[in-house]
Amino acid sequence: MPRPTLTRREALLRLAGGAAAPSLLLAACDVGWPRDGGGGPAGGGDAAFTLAPINLDPDRITRTYVCARPYRPSGFRVEAERMGETLLVHNYGHGGGGFTLSWGTAAMVADILRDAAVPAGAAVAVAGCGVVGLTTALVLLERGFSVTIHARALPPDTTSNLAGASFFPSTAVDPSLLTPAFAERLETACRTSHARFLDLLPDPRYGISWKPQYFVTDEWTPEIEAGDAIYGMLRDLYPNQELFREGTHPFQTRFAWREDNIFIEPTPYLTRLVADFRERGGNTVVRDFESLEDLLGLDERWIVNCTGLGASALVTDPELTSNPSQTVILAPQPDVDYAVADIDGVYMFPRSDGIMLGRGEGVVDTMELLEAQRRLVARTPVTG
Ligand SMILES: Cc1cc2nc3c(=O)[nH]c(=O)nc-3n(C[C@H](O)[C@H](O)[C@H](O)COP(=O)(O)OP(=O)(O)OC[C@H]3O[C@@H](n4cnc5c(N)ncnc54)[C@H](O)[C@@H]3O)c2cc1C
Repeated sequence: MPRPTLTRREALLRLAGGAAAPSLLLAACDVGWPRDGGGGPAGGGDAAFTLAPINLDPDRITRTYVCARPYRPSGFRVEAERMGETLLVHNYGHGGGGFTLSWGTAAMVADILRDAAVPAGAAVAVAGCGVVGLTTALVLLERGFSVTIHARALPPDTTSNLAGASFFPSTAVDPSLLTPAFAERLETACRTSHARFLDLLPDPRYGISWKPQYFVTDEWTPEIEAGDAIYGMLRDLYPNQELFREGTHPFQTRFAWREDNIFIEPTPYLTRLVADFRERGGNTVVRDFESLEDLLGLDERWIVNCTGLGASALVTDPELTSNPSQTVILAPQPDVDYAVADIDGVYMFPRSDGIMLGRGEGVVDTMELLEAQRRLVARTPVTG
């Protein structure tokens, strides 16, 4: 029996903040490969398949940027506070899963307003115009409210525009703090969003697509195989799962795990959501709230706080922290139509605006990122 080199918790922490990697890693559970160490998992096929190589020539770098996820270890905050005459509903702290959770937590906000007997047609203010604010505003319009978004910045100038974005609630919660009650909310939010993404997917204007994603590794331990609760409850949302052993896949690692996933291209998607919101009667106002008092000074008596990391300046929330990472975009490669991630949480997403390279960990250091890319490249078919 090979000695496991990663405990389950270590594997989770190393991947914390990643986009594709956690689900890919955790997808390994229940594949049923022999545990005697005599040859590893059953392969996914008899012959190696091919994938277009990634060209990592540094001359192809078009952009690098640093951005931060709004992380709360106990998970997103969706709850109401009565502030004098105003009902303030919070919807922030989605970590690296804001796209994945967006439609789901938006529906939770709408349910809070319904339960508070907010009258039909009432004017509701949404603070924030990232993916969380936009989806919340759209769901509230659908529920019959009159909605205005107030935000310091609109797409394309939000953090949401810098996301991956693949479908998985990465770093949406510290796994060691996951309670059964929050797990249920997380799963409900993910499934609500997933259904909405599938509804929108056929319309190319939203930039949503299915793509295969690969997790490549030299290690395949029982701890990796065991996975965690979050992937376990969402696993059926990732079709075409298959484990490939050495010689049956094109990666330069012993193992490659494949599954299909939904990818959302942030800029076309958010641009389309802004257009949907305006076409359906919503208003947008550019405005900066300097304090909670400033926010509560709005005319509306029902206000939804979707300010992401900006919430830390408006409300006292010791849990809300910034989880930064650095990302590199290379020139587009239309032939690269798969995503890949490795055991270090380094990932590549193919997008129409370029090849996105990042790493899940919160350290921001250019040299570290370049080194991490080099390691991913060493595991991936590549030119350049
Ligand atoms: C590198 C990276 C990769 C990611 N990959 C994925 C992924 O693959 N899948 C996924 O689901 N998620 C991913 N995420 C996470 C996702 O991007 C975030 O969870 C999401 O963008 C948070 O959205 P938001 O609307 O809460 O915040 P934001 O996008 O930051 O929007 C906040 C809004 O509030 C406004 N605002 C803030 N403060 C104020 C104020 N005081 N006054 C007025 N307006 C204010 C801002 O101007 C903005 O309009 C990734 C994030 C990063 C950084």
